[in-house]
Order: sequence, then structure tokens, then C-alpha cells
Amino acid sequence: MTGFSPWQARAWAQAMAALDAGRLPHALLVGGPAGLGKRALVRALARRLLCASPHDGHACGQCRGCALVAAGTHPDLIEETFEPNDKGELRKEILIGQVRRLGEKLALTPQIAAAQVALIHPAEAMNRSAFNALLKTLEEPAAGRYLILVADQPQRLPATIRSRCQLLRLDLPAREEALGWLAAHGHDARPAREALDAAQGNPGLAQEYLAGDALALRRAVARELVELAAGRAGAAELSSAWASDRPALRLRFAGELVRDHLAQRAGGPLSDPLADLPRTVGIAELGAWFDGATRALNALDGPLRDELQIAERLVRWRELFV
Ligand SMILES: [Zn+2]
Repeated sequence: MTGFSPWQARAWAQAMAALDAGRLPHALLVGGPAGLGKRALVRALARRLLCASPHDGHACGQCRGCALVAAGTHPDLIEETFEPNDKGELRKEILIGQVRRLGEKLALTPQIAAAQVALIHPAEAMNRSAFNALLKTLEEPAAGRYLILVADQPQRLPATIRSRCQLLRLDLPAREEALGWLAAHGHDARPAREALDAAQGNPGLAQEYLAGDALALRRAVARELVELAAGRAGAAELSSAWASDRPALRLRFAGELVRDHLAQRAGGPLSDPLADLPRTVGIAELGAWFDGATRALNALDGPLRDELQIAERLVRWRELFV
């Protein structure tokens, strides 16, 4: 299909082969890193399953089913994702009521199409009782009913759920393929390589970085870590600056830069914006700092203020080099 990346096209071909052979599973778990286009793939699959006259393996785009999917009003397409709470903010969980509602609809006869398709994304955001409700739906598969779960981290789903789904993976592509795709989207080779490094090889994330000022931010974080190590910047000042502007992204970049620096010291191929750091600090200490940065990043949504988490990491960073 036009518009698919090579990695989407590979997953699509797998799904189509299963469909053509009559063994597309009732429950499909589409998993792989965020940014690779899982949702677009799943929507194309839903369109294909609900289309009255698919041709060349794709939805026709012209039948009533296709028009209703495009309008978001197809009665045989059920989609559950985050819903707003009473204050109008999006919840961070998918609740049992949503899964029950989906299960009830999926038990009905399709209204227009030959199939019913239910999507849940992100599937790992279901809470425990939602998972239990989903198990019931998974245990009662009916012909022409497709349940499709989308997860960035499928391993976080309970084994009882995973074992009842067939996994369709989208994996990070090889570096050359990712760079080719970024080039085809109009990105120059040098920034594309930098963005792909910053995105740990994820081309979708790299494209997001290239569209904003993330690369400049990452360079600034690298510079500030070097300055702080040399005692030319203060931890307190830096922490308040970091906390006031995209603290999570800065902390993530800091951790990844240190990890890349460690890889570089071990002879790895990545570029190393922290190359100017003094080599007096051992690999084990830097590794421990990286682990701490990961913990701090996970804690940013917690009860401690962001600035305290970040200050603790930056003070520790300075101490490593004194
Ligand atoms: Zn159609």
C-alpha cells in the first residue's frame, strides 16, 4: 500500500498472508516500539476487514463500509482508548467498563460488514479488572469477530492475555533502511543520522525529533553535562532550568547520552557528544549514574517535584568528577 514504511509493509504482508489463508486470528496483538506506525497499520487492517469489495488486498476506499470507517461512524468498528475523566482530562488507564462495552458489542451480529473489528490501544494501559474482563471476551471467540490489541510494550500484558493472542511485531528496522526512509521524507543525511542516534534507531521518533527542536535540546543537555562535570556550571541553576522546560525529555537525553558515551568507551560505533568528559570516572560509576537517571525518569510523575529528582541526579553527576 502506498504510504506504508518498509517495516509496516512487512507486518502488513504477514497479516494479509494469514487472512488469505483463512487463519487471521480472532485476537491479534500488534506490538513494537512507539513511533513505527502500529496504529496506522491496524486502521488499514480494520478498513480491509470491513470493506465490501477489497481489491489487490486493500480496502477499496469507495464502498459504504469504507466511507463509514473514514467518517468514524462504522457500527462494526469498535475502538477503545483513553477516555476523558469528569474534569475533561484524558485518563491514563483503560477501564473495565470500556472493555465490557466492547465485549458486549463484539458479541452482536455485524450490522453492515461481514465482520466486526474491535481495537484497544494502548493495550498495556488496561487496569487489572479490565484485563480480567477482556479474558472473558477472548475465551468466547466467534466467527468474523476480530479483536486487535496495540501495545508499545506487549511484554507488560499479563501472560494470560498474551497467550490468547497471536503476536504481530513491528521491529526497529536496520539503520540503512531507517536512513533511507528518513531521506525519502526529505531529511538531509547528517541531521537524519544524528536524529536516528538520538532516537536509539527508531525512525518514527527520529522524524519527530527532526520536526521539532529536540536535537538542539539534546546538544544543549550534552554541553551542560560537560560544563557541570568541569565545574563551570552549577547543579542548582541547571536543575531549575531543566525542571522548567521539558524535564522528562532532558533527563531521558542525559541518561541516553551517558549510555552512548559508555558504549563509545567500549568501542561502539555511535557518535559521542560527551567525548570531552574527563576519563577519570570509571565505567561502573557512570553506569550507576545512568541507572539512577532511569529511576528518576520513572519517578517524574510521582509525588516528588521534578526539580528535586533532577537536582539529585545533577548533584551526583558533579560529585563524580570532583
Ligand atoms: Zn471498501
